[in-house]
Amino acid sequence: MPELPDLTIVAEELADRISGRSVTDVSAPAPILVRATPQDLRALVGMTVGPASRRGKFLLLPFDGEATRRTLAANPMLAGRFWLLVEGGAKVRVRTGLRLRFDDGSELRYVDREMLGKLYLVDPERLDSIPGWPEMGPDADDPELTIERFRERIRRHPGELKSLLRNPRFVAGIGNAYSDEILWEARLAPLRRRSTLRPDEIDRLYEAMRLVLREATTRLRSLVPPDIHLQHREFLKVHLRGGDACPRCGNVLRQIGGSEATTFCRTCQPPF
Ligand SMILES: [Zn+2]
Repeated sequence: MPELPDLTIVAEELADRISGRSVTDVSAPAPILVRATPQDLRALVGMTVGPASRRGKFLLLPFDGEATRRTLAANPMLAGRFWLLVEGGAKVRVRTGLRLRFDDGSELRYVDREMLGKLYLVDPERLDSIPGWPEMGPDADDPELTIERFRERIRRHPGELKSLLRNPRFVAGIGNAYSDEILWEARLAPLRRRSTLRPDEIDRLYEAMRLVLREATTRLRSLVPPDIHLQHREFLKVHLRGGDACPRCGNVLRQIGGSEATTFCRTCQPPF
């Protein structure tokens, strides 16, 4: 599942490579994923692509027309990927949800093996009409999310730390993989309840969240481009490495759960 660092890099790469292009064709081979009418989609033809960005787990792609503006907000959920194809380049053999063609012959595709992603085409002033958008908390890497604000926000969000980090109402952009990495870095057990945290542990959680996301984003910037459809996770320290040695203490990493597995170290992340 693409998370904050993955989508940040996709947005940077798209901003760099397709900003200023004009749309020559749009099609939605899997209309079920696209929350827009065929007329809305057709209206993108002739519009100019602006700089892509990211908010939470949404990739945002703005379009400027003569009289109207539109934003494509794509939440890739479990398996959505963006492909940027140049003319005569590689072929995509995965299910395409949306295809945009540009005036230089290049093509942006949203493909989704699981067909679970959600794509919205809205007026940029009406992002709030997207389900979940108005309740979304600050991005986990938002400079305005200071440690003071984090301490204050966490008080209002009870529950286990793993679910807390993945709750977009608390902080946006973190999923299953990076929540494991952050909790291991913070030396906090995933099933600890927020109410049991001491003030120094709350601060540790904040510092770990910022550090892990910053380091991953930097790492991905050198790994991902130009192949934005590839998801790199090989540098993660614990997520899905159950049975391996903990990189900090050497004890065996534990893994619980199935497809949405949680990996942690019982020594470094004691349950109290
Ligand atoms: Zn350990």
